[in-house]
Amino acid sequence: MSFPCWGYRLLVSTYKGLWRYLCCHSYYWRLYFPANPTLKVQLMAKKPSQSFPNKSYSHCSKLPADIQTLLKKAEAQTKLAYAPYSNFLVGAAILLTNGQVIGGCNQENASYPLCICAERVALYTYGARPIKHKIKALVVTAHNPSKPLTEVCMPCGACRQVIQEYEARQNKPIKVYVTSMGLDEIIKIDGINAILPSAFSQSALI
Ligand SMILES: [Zn+2]
Repeated sequence: MSFPCWGYRLLVSTYKGLWRYLCCHSYYWRLYFPANPTLKVQLMAKKPSQSFPNKSYSHCSKLPADIQTLLKKAEAQTKLAYAPYSNFLVGAAILLTNGQVIGGCNQENASYPLCICAERVALYTYGARPIKHKIKALVVTAHNPSKPLTEVCMPCGACRQVIQEYEARQNKPIKVYVTSMGLDEIIKIDGINAILPSAFSQSALI
């Protein structure tokens, strides 16, 4: 039995109709298959506003005197940072209860996963010392020589986890102050729990 002539015409007209529909409605088509698929990802990754409990200072002169000194140390540490790949120079400084200060800065590597943040360099330097006075505060700041920074330098997830471990070791929260050089904003975080809720800790291993 041969395929009827009317059946062939029906197939062709259906195909043409479908094609016309897709061309006329390309706008909607683009929504589902955008020319730049990363755009959707970028929009979804837009940062939410800072909603954790914190105190904000509009200028470093309004900080407590010991934290002002600590901030100067963190700024000095940015000059020692080794960041030829990102050009994002980060300095950190820890204040101990006996008044001692320990600095750290980010160290990058051509093998990118080996890079380490300023906060962890400072904390591990502290951890390698034999006598441990408790950590009172940590200041983090950043500087990019090629462009002004528009956001305070928040600790990354890995550093938050490490700060949490040091808080657990000393059984006392660490006050974290974050800013970026050139910004008139310093945020104070009263303990890492505010920015690392429900953290993984050693209690999960017992
Ligand atoms: Zn980090």
